[in-house]
Amino acid sequence: MLNLALPLLSLPTRAEPTDAAAPRLLIIYTGGTVGMALSEAGELVPMQFERLDHKMPELARLPFRIELVSLPAPIDSSNVTPANWLFLAQLIGRHYADFDGFVVLHGTDTMAYSAAALSYVLEHLGKPVVFTGAQVPMGASRSDAQRNLVTALEIAAARHPRARTVRVPEVCVFFNDVLIRGTRAKKVESQQFAAFKSENYPPLARAGINLEFADKSIRLLPGAHLNVHQHLETGVAVLRLFPGITEAVVSAILGIEGLRGCVLETYGSGNAPTSPWFLQCLAEARARGVWLLNVSQCEEGRVVQGKYETSSYFAGLGVVGGDDITTEAAVTKLMFVLGLGLGEERTRKLLTQDLRGEITP
Ligand code: ASP
Repeated sequence: MLNLALPLLSLPTRAEPTDAAAPRLLIIYTGGTVGMALSEAGELVPMQFERLDHKMPELARLPFRIELVSLPAPIDSSNVTPANWLFLAQLIGRHYADFDGFVVLHGTDTMAYSAAALSYVLEHLGKPVVFTGAQVPMGASRSDAQRNLVTALEIAAARHPRARTVRVPEVCVFFNDVLIRGTRAKKVESQQFAAFKSENYPPLARAGINLEFADKSIRLLPGAHLNVHQHLETGVAVLRLFPGITEAVVSAILGIEGLRGCVLETYGSGNAPTSPWFLQCLAEARARGVWLLNVSQCEEGRVVQGKYETSSYFAGLGVVGGDDITTEAAVTKLMFVLGLGLGEERTRKLLTQDLRGEITP
């Protein structure tokens, strides 16, 4: 078990540390390109952030009280695990009462999964948790880190102009110029600065000369108390269909020992082959208690089970339609819901229900 009592480093800014009116923000550094440097072998590897304020002097101009906490061993986000998500959630829980908002510096590769996972685990969140990172390391010329981090901090500090209530009490991803709900983010680009897309849902804000919030699209849970969940089910898999997929592949994946849930990445509006062997594999998995969540391979649109003959058998088999959920939000939803250890009926209800804005029912 990792130690949650990590040291917080106070960064010099325009706000006095004692100025109670200035928003208090916590930056959590987990790794990713944003903080990478070249190794002797010429590869980008994560490094420690001793003095973020030296690398980003513009932080000193912000009117916020900012503190920084680094994970003891920063990682390339390709190495992220559900255990990292639970640790991150607990770290936020530990400091929740003391800060107005959180910014998580994270690698872009799996940021959408992490943001979705945190959305589920941090139930009744009432403060912003903004994930951001960079395509070019901080300190390198043409880095996007400065802009992304400064704007993410501004979002984490944002309040409604009149009511002064929290503007974005959600887990979200800010990247380049767009703020995306955590359960709707998808990494779509590895070479350009606009790395993320908001799938099947409008962005929560756009950053141009001004920050423009889409208040009607932001979820508000007034009066809620944060509940940090402690468990995620890791016995999950993704089965992506393709023409020519064989029985051997399908039965090997669905037959994995200890499998509890599987995202079925189907075609179009949730369609799949009707071959008897395929249906048999699904039926056997269901009989062993494996939950199947039907998610479309299409980036836009939604699963409508029963629209075609090639999906009409799903309901009878107990396959859950994923509506317009992303694969990232579906994998983590399975981990979360199955991790709750509920009975059949409650599990089905939660898998079908919109929990954190991940589907448009
Ligand atoms: N491989 C890096 C990571 O995800 C890429 C990035 O941060 O942009 O940690």
